[in-house]
Amino acid sequence: MQPIKMVDLYGQYLKIKEEVDHSVQEVIESSVFLKGGKVAVFEKELSDFLGCHVISCGNGTDALQLAFMALGLKQGDEVITTPFTFVSTVEVLVFLGIKPVFVDIDPATFNIDVNLIEDAISPKTKAILPVHLFGQCANMEPIMAIAKRHKLKVVEDAAQSLGCLYKFTDGSRQQSGTIGDIGCTSFFPTKNIGAFGDGGAVFCNDPDLADKVRSLANHGMEKKYHYKSVGINSRLDAIQAAILEVKFKKLGNYLSARKNAASHYNKQLQPIQEIKTPLQSTFSTHTYNQYTIQIEERDRLQAFLKEHGIPSQVYYPKPLHLQKAYTNLGYKEGSLPTSELVSQKVLSLPMHTELDIDQLGFISNSIKEYYS
Ligand SMILES: *Cc1c(COP(=O)(O)O)cnc(C)c1O
Repeated sequence: MQPIKMVDLYGQYLKIKEEVDHSVQEVIESSVFLKGGKVAVFEKELSDFLGCHVISCGNGTDALQLAFMALGLKQGDEVITTPFTFVSTVEVLVFLGIKPVFVDIDPATFNIDVNLIEDAISPKTKAILPVHLFGQCANMEPIMAIAKRHKLKVVEDAAQSLGCLYKFTDGSRQQSGTIGDIGCTSFFPTKNIGAFGDGGAVFCNDPDLADKVRSLANHGMEKKYHYKSVGINSRLDAIQAAILEVKFKKLGNYLSARKNAASHYNKQLQPIQEIKTPLQSTFSTHTYNQYTIQIEERDRLQAFLKEHGIPSQVYYPKPLHLQKAYTNLGYKEGSLPTSELVSQKVLSLPMHTELDIDQLGFISNSIKEYYS
């Protein structure tokens, strides 16, 4: 059996080595390293797939920043989101002088509890920022209804959920990140489509908003050396686009591989009483960017797995409202009890496209042994 990794980017690369090497070589030969070239090709392919405008940028954090800049949110505005997420979600808000207002999560899906959103709305609220955590959509239909009722914008953090489909009650389906006003994704190496470095993208349906995002990502430029707003410099480079383009063609296969690994874990681990396996909600597919179980005495199982050569990770050990950097938001222990409790219990198991049946069997047997 091959050693088990949390993520196996090299193993994934070996299967597409020729295509990736060729695509990267083409960039070097063309010397079109930024804008145009492979970047334009990749944006177009993603845009065709999602059915909306796509603006690539430097990373997922920038994508979120660009979203709130483009929507014109200002100092003192409030945005509703959850504290059980990667730091970027909240960091960009604070950086722009926007106040994150936290709402607790549904412990079964780790996503924002839509029943708590309306109570958090104040006259300063301008937007809702659902995070499709671990690869599964937050419940977008009620979120969109609340947003409509209160005239709020919706920005989706789809960093972990590229390719995930939201299922509306009328049976229609829509790609995560394309439902709200703006969607943001990341091509960080461990995401559903990972670059060999940084990358990100902004999705939106409104062509004017898309133009705004594109301009803001390019220094606020209107035409060459003329600037209509204060922007930033955030771009995907063509080497990354060359890699992403090859991998994007395999997205369907990659998501199936993740789903198969998750099915294996589900089947083997669901009978173990002490383990709460991740719930797949009725309103979303699951892309299993992470396979995250909930258990008591999490650190003990993690140590046991480590002894058996099985890596695991805690996403996330401390909700953002309790982090030192964000204490001045005024939350304290007990403010968001579900996020706090869940952060003590979560453990993400190895999850990637290259896990084979021997490895999966070894992981689940080791967990069974621990609980036997
Ligand atoms: C990865 C991630 C981001 C940030 O993406 P980067 O490309 O690392 O900047 C934002 N939000 C969530 C939920 C993420 O998982």
